[in-house]
Amino acid sequence: MDSYEVAVIPGDGIGVEVVDAGLSVVERAAADAGFEVETTRFDWGTEHYLDRGEMMPDDGLDRLRGFDNIFLGAVGHPEVPDHVTLHGLLLPIRKGFDQYVCKRPNVLFEGIDSPLRGYGPGDIDFVVYRENTEGEYASVGGREHRGFDHETAVQSALFTRRGTERIVRAAFRAAAEREGHLTSITKSNAQAHSMVFWDDIVAEVSTEFPSVDVERLLVDAAAMDLIRRPHEFDVVVASNLFGDILTDIGAQITGSMGLAPSGNVHPGDANPSMFEPVHGSAPDIVGDGVANPLATVLSWSMLLDDLGETAAGDALWSAVVDQLAEESAPRTPDIGGTAGTEDVVADLRSRL
Ligand code: ATP
Ligand code: MG
Repeated sequence: MDSYEVAVIPGDGIGVEVVDAGLSVVERAAADAGFEVETTRFDWGTEHYLDRGEMMPDDGLDRLRGFDNIFLGAVGHPEVPDHVTLHGLLLPIRKGFDQYVCKRPNVLFEGIDSPLRGYGPGDIDFVVYRENTEGEYASVGGREHRGFDHETAVQSALFTRRGTERIVRAAFRAAAEREGHLTSITKSNAQAHSMVFWDDIVAEVSTEFPSVDVERLLVDAAAMDLIRRPHEFDVVVASNLFGDILTDIGAQITGSMGLAPSGNVHPGDANPSMFEPVHGSAPDIVGDGVANPLATVLSWSMLLDDLGETAAGDALWSAVVDQLAEESAPRTPDIGGTAGTEDVVADLRSRL
């Protein structure tokens, strides 16, 4: 029997709750498909930080290196600044394993109301490919600084040919596979160096994918159009900052943070990729047993697809779709139900 080794970092708050709940569903799906997922748990996160002053141990990356993939719940704590969680755990893993594709599907499922009037099941279905290792979040050799006079601050962005080509190419490949089209997001009118460079690379790479139509959109227009005409998007490729912002719009117009999955992907086998629900640790509902586990289950579906176990990945995705479509099925309060996390995963297991 095939067996995969997955490192699991439940993290904080509802991260722990949804990870535990999700695992029971994943194990069932794997058993049905005839393979095994062996998980190793790492209790890293803000508690580790409050105890020891670090989000994960110094050799954290080395300990994760040999795994096929990584699953993360959520990290965050009201008393720990966001930049500590980001720079202490998320960014080192994304950068350390060169997970340059942040992949976020945005699907409006049957049974879920979009806040946008007139949109129903299947009307919204696009995926964002966000550059995940450089761009506006890169450090450019210490050039960014606060002025000595405290009257200025400099923050740069780094766009490399290698970094831009590979995210653009990954997005084109996805668009070709979906037999769809690609929207490239920039701000080339204002950022005449980095974003014009990006546009040039999109034009070059597009010659490798003659079947894929490309649309170029300025990020402000894109923010507007994601609300005005979300049904027309298919694959979206964007820089680190723009992708970050647009994916939050995507999560909202498709219903709930509790439904949004994501992957930080290093294509190929050289490094593990990391999959995680988009939502945070949600301290307001922790311990209530009502955290929505569906974003976690959908993220596991992406993780299994990435391992090549697409039958099991599809089974998980379909179980979620079927559950949401069924009015009498249990659902958590964030999507209008009264059920708890456990009821939802028990129902999912029964659908597999
Ligand atoms: P963090 O500081 O870790 O980002 P957060 O409180 O900001 O945590 P978010 O994920 O940003 O958490 O979510 C905002 C709010 O949305 C939460 O406070 C919670 O009420 C709700 N929410 C998020 N995820 C879920 C979920 N899986 N199930 C139910 N409600 C959720
Ligand atoms: Mg948050």
